[in-house]
Amino acid sequence: MSDRRDILPISQAAGQASRFGARAARLGVLSKLGLPVPPGQVIAFDMVRRLDGVPQGLAEAEGLVSLRASPEVPGGGSVSAILNIGMTQARLPSLEVRLGRIGALEIYRRFIQTYGTRVAGLDGEDFENLYYDQLKLSNTPTEHGMEALVDDSLAFYQDEVGEAFPQDARAQLSECLRAMCKDWTAPTAKILRTARGLPEDANLGLIVQDMVFGLGPDSGAGLVQFTDEATGEARATGRYLPNAQGQDASTGVRTPHLATVVEREGAGQTLPSLEEIAPDTLAGLRKAAEMAAGGLRDAQRLGFTVSRGTLYLLDAVPARRSARAAVQIAVDLAQAGHITQAQAILRVEPSYLNESLHPQIGPYATRDVIGTGLAASPGAAVGRIVFSSQAAHAAQAAGEMAILVRAETSPEDIRGMHSAVAVLTVRGGMTSHAAVIARGLGLPCVVGASDLRLDVKAKTLTAVDGRVLGEGDQITIDGTSGQALMGAPTMVPPKMTEAFDTLMTWADATRTIGVRANADTTQDAEVALRFKVDGIGLVRTEHMFFEGDRIAPMREMILAEDDAARAEALERLLPMQRSDFTELFRTMGGLPVTIRLLDPPLHEFLPHSEEDLAAVAEATGRSTQEVLARAQDLAEFNPMLGKRGVRVGLTTPEIYDMQARAIFEAVAALAKEGLPTVTPEIMIPLVSAQGEVTAVKDRVDAIADEIRAAQGVQFAYEIGVMIETPRGALRAGDLAQDCAFFSFGTNDLTQMVYGLSRDDAGRFMRDYVNSGIFEEDPFHSLDVEGVGELVLMAAKRARAARPDIVLGLCGEHGGDPASIRFCRVAGFDYVSCSPFRVPVARLAAAQASLLVKQQS
Ligand code: PEP
Ligand code: MG
Repeated sequence: MSDRRDILPISQAAGQASRFGARAARLGVLSKLGLPVPPGQVIAFDMVRRLDGVPQGLAEAEGLVSLRASPEVPGGGSVSAILNIGMTQARLPSLEVRLGRIGALEIYRRFIQTYGTRVAGLDGEDFENLYYDQLKLSNTPTEHGMEALVDDSLAFYQDEVGEAFPQDARAQLSECLRAMCKDWTAPTAKILRTARGLPEDANLGLIVQDMVFGLGPDSGAGLVQFTDEATGEARATGRYLPNAQGQDASTGVRTPHLATVVEREGAGQTLPSLEEIAPDTLAGLRKAAEMAAGGLRDAQRLGFTVSRGTLYLLDAVPARRSARAAVQIAVDLAQAGHITQAQAILRVEPSYLNESLHPQIGPYATRDVIGTGLAASPGAAVGRIVFSSQAAHAAQAAGEMAILVRAETSPEDIRGMHSAVAVLTVRGGMTSHAAVIARGLGLPCVVGASDLRLDVKAKTLTAVDGRVLGEGDQITIDGTSGQALMGAPTMVPPKMTEAFDTLMTWADATRTIGVRANADTTQDAEVALRFKVDGIGLVRTEHMFFEGDRIAPMREMILAEDDAARAEALERLLPMQRSDFTELFRTMGGLPVTIRLLDPPLHEFLPHSEEDLAAVAEATGRSTQEVLARAQDLAEFNPMLGKRGVRVGLTTPEIYDMQARAIFEAVAALAKEGLPTVTPEIMIPLVSAQGEVTAVKDRVDAIADEIRAAQGVQFAYEIGVMIETPRGALRAGDLAQDCAFFSFGTNDLTQMVYGLSRDDAGRFMRDYVNSGIFEEDPFHSLDVEGVGELVLMAAKRARAARPDIVLGLCGEHGGDPASIRFCRVAGFDYVSCSPFRVPVARLAAAQASLLVKQQS
């Protein structure tokens, strides 16, 4: 049972962070472990709020004390410690015995300065000037010099404040407590907290502790941690300053000693390390850090003071760590038995895994930002600007790294994107074409960088500060932060460590929701398999028709004047599709594969450039004008809401027929080879009425029967729909009658529920999110309140009509941890995301499963 008193000895604050703050609670644990924490007391939030001077119950200290803040929230305020409280003229003699005359005077001088600035509101610089005036007279302080300095400081205090420096220890403490509370509630502290997204009126706990002095021989102060900040591996790093107090080692007054020989050699420093000057101290710290990690269930950075060779611990905070180090530390802690595997899973922010999967800009690199947009696909890449897909292609052929810069991308840019190392668009949102494709390819991508000006004709890109860049200029795209940068900052390569694999194995054993990939090619499927995916949740078949030799027969099919010409073109496409599916099924080795029948409006396949127009004209035996006229004929006012998805499938049913045939022939071919049975899941896009499903299903069933009979092979398949339109969601009960599964296409569903074009949202989304109108970009993280409600309603209606219906989500939200949590709570069977996001989704799925379990 915890002690409810508001003032407790430090050791009793262990486990009471919610009343005394995290620092007090951590020190309490260290103290309970028997580690050398100077004795003291802690004051609870409740009492600090009412504090007016020294509270009753705070023990009278025999010597000097320190006063430290213990905030309710980490990073909640910059209220620094006040040391040496209780230093008076009367205490000089006894302190002299311990620290020598100069040491005692130095403590006195420091306290007059701290008290003068923190309590009396004087300018610290004036005290510093007194100090440096003395140093000018003598470089190493003499007794006489120090006496003069103390006298000067006392006189300065009296002059400025109008009364003598207080000589009563209790009165000093009273004023220091008041000053601490005042600093905590000062407008600047509140603004800082608000800026960091923390509660403005966060609570403050206080720690009053006996002083240990780092001044004099064999004494000093420092900071150390035993896990490497970048990798999380066991390696000591730290700072130690002899003859110093508190934060001196980090404030740059003198050059500190580094922790070990390895660290100092790495930094090219000749000053001996702590390991060399005080090996026992480092060994003591190492042992303390191990015990602290066990007691506090996390790697710690220790703040310490050495007094005449004796080590004291003054602070412990979670060790600094990069994303990669966070994975290593969590796994190490679990393997050492300090935390459970479930806790390790919950400790790692899923997005941290991106650092293991993609190159990143180094944490200390200088960033020369030329523009900022939406962070559409993580990782960073350096390359030279190209303004067209052809130029990207040419650059790749010449062995150069190209960064494709476009206003926005269209399906015709897919090949260019394959050739580029990163993509930058000045328009577009999180589910725009460029964003979706880049995530699929694992390419760093920034979209909607509207502060850049692009002139494709002049081949110039104008930076936010007016610098003009041209083709061939070197830039860097940071798809993790959403920045475009000039030049080539230092990069950190990706690394999938053993700890990463271990964490993922634990995550898979924990999660209760499947993770599939959106994969269009065997290459995508291979990437997804490397990331241990459960299947493919979305094959966007239209992407198959943009590849090399397919676009020509596709265009001929669309432009065909009569059924015979169309059939002829489809005949040429059939074997290509068949081999696509055969290879995809073969690669997936029997894992589920959901194939979406053709989705986009047909005119997207038609030629736009003069070159392409001429090529199509030649292939189809028509004039360029005729081809252009046909293309214009097919164009729509609003193609996103026009003849796309199942509407294309029903108006040109031969396309879906060909696709169904290709799927079944591939299944039959693999069955004949004796390969694992494939049960393809055929998915109909953009459905809004039951009639659409029945019509497609009837044709698909007929083709299946025909192929079974023709090939003498039995096979099963499932038919399902994408829920992408609000009407589709509302009529889920009808649609479910013909469907074995639903996959929520939340990109289109978000677009339609908001009435907001997914390709244009990037123009204002950043402003909307920055000003708090939208909490999040709904194309990035599912809008649980709006779109989510519709999804839940559809799921309920679907289950009522067909209890065994399989439910999945394959919009870009499938890789977003918060959206995955939503799907898990809704009892979905799987989420599906771009291959490179699969590890993030697996971890997020495990976390979601753990959280749901905890709450039930
Ligand atoms: C969707 O709309 O959520 C979806 C997955 O389909 P696409 O992004 O291809 O429109
Ligand atoms: Mg869609």
